Amino acid sequence: MKKPKVSRRSVLKAAAGVAGAGLLGGVGRAQQSQYHESPFLLGPARGNRVVIVGGGWGGVTTARTLKKINPKIDVVLIEAKEIFMSCPLSNLYLAGLKDLHFLTFDYANLVKEGVHFVNERALEVDRDRKRVYTTGGTVAYDYLVLSPGIEYVYDEVPGFEPFRAHMPVGFRPFEHVALRRNIEQFKGGDFILSVPKGPYRCPPGPYERAAMIAWYFKEHKIPGKVILLAPSSKPPKAKGFLAAYDDLYADYIEYYPNTETLGVDYEKKIVQTSLGEFDFDYANIIPPMRAGEIVRKAGVGDRWVDVELPWHQTKVDPDVYVLGDADSAGGPKSGKLAFEEGRYRVAVHIAARIAGQEAELRTPDVRNICYSFVDDEEAIWIAARYNLDEANKRRKALESKLDVQRSVKNGERAYDWAAEHWGYMFGG
Ligand SMILES: Cc1cc2nc3c(=O)[nH]c(=O)nc-3n(C[C@H](O)[C@H](O)[C@H](O)COP(=O)(O)OP(=O)(O)OC[C@H]3O[C@@H](n4cnc5c(N)ncnc54)[C@H](O)[C@@H]3O)c2cc1C
Repeated sequence: MKKPKVSRRSVLKAAAGVAGAGLLGGVGRAQQSQYHESPFLLGPARGNRVVIVGGGWGGVTTARTLKKINPKIDVVLIEAKEIFMSCPLSNLYLAGLKDLHFLTFDYANLVKEGVHFVNERALEVDRDRKRVYTTGGTVAYDYLVLSPGIEYVYDEVPGFEPFRAHMPVGFRPFEHVALRRNIEQFKGGDFILSVPKGPYRCPPGPYERAAMIAWYFKEHKIPGKVILLAPSSKPPKAKGFLAAYDDLYADYIEYYPNTETLGVDYEKKIVQTSLGEFDFDYANIIPPMRAGEIVRKAGVGDRWVDVELPWHQTKVDPDVYVLGDADSAGGPKSGKLAFEEGRYRVAVHIAARIAGQEAELRTPDVRNICYSFVDDEEAIWIAARYNLDEANKRRKALESKLDVQRSVKNGERAYDWAAEHWGYMFGG
């Protein structure tokens, strides 16, 4: 590491400028889309049609639950990728402990249940005509659900964008393949892992990743060190992570809290931070995030999407629902919350509307639980219940529980948790 060259104060001022510069001019609602003449992809709907964009945690759970409630509902799932990859447990893949097969699922069982799987990218939404334009053609809807996850705001880390192919982030499905290859090719030295400013997908994810890469270095005797740069003062599940870093990886992790990444010079191999400059041999920089682009194309939100709780209708259009990481309902951006929102909120509400009934709030709370591995078999976890804060119509945490004592038992529970949720989403 180089000694800091700049005063913390001046760098922080510069950081404020970067953040304030913004880049979030929303595209807004499509007036007359360039795609408006593209042919329809599917025949006319049998009754009401629910179109879901995004075949991840929120979208698949919504599709499956709609079919469970009423198999006759016409459900269309538009997903750009042919197969799903789970980000939960993907840090085990990066450490070489699991293969890709373990994390990936196809959509065959949804198709068997009658979901139309449209393997295309949604390009625009025309809310006046109730149409989604995709790379393959047009799909008409009665109700639209957007669960597109996140995209990176590269511009908030100057210098990153032109070199993104060299520095895969690994916070969206399949980017992990290139990242794992880079980890396997890493011969030693400083491996920077930079945590973004929130809100970002899976708050404990980078800290779990630091532990798992350190585990890999230790296990394979790689003379490398994870330089963990984080803007916050402590990680989630702090006691558990910090104990693991101290007890297991004292020679493999250097942790810098209160350190914001401000830019990168890939050619000189330097990361600029609020603490000064850090040299690196490899850098896994996780940039700030925002909702997937289709929400801006649909004109329902900007950086994140404001939704009406508890049912997740957007403020601007009650026939368009947004859930998962893309919304700003409160609570961590997690697969578990996306799952709960799809299963107990969005699908229930749409199915009731189609049936001409009032939706019934059978589970007043939504629950989150997040496991983090800290070595090849031990994990820690945190769980919380969220209810509706009537005053400001956002979610509020009712209570949280955690177990920061790493154990094999917690590791086994993490596998059971994943199997249960993947089973609901993709099982036969
Ligand atoms: C390293 C890591 C570890 C994690 N660990 C956990 C954990 O232990 N527990 C947990 O609960 N969560 C965890 N998460 C978070 C979890 O992965 C996300 O919160 C979850 O994926 C959010 O679901 P989603 O439906 O919003 O988005 P996603 O699951 O990302 O699904 C979005 C889908 O939409 C598709 N899409 C986007 N735009 C379009 C478009 N225009 N047209 C067609 N398709 C489109 C994408 O291809 C993608 O398949 C972790 C994340 C990471 C990165």
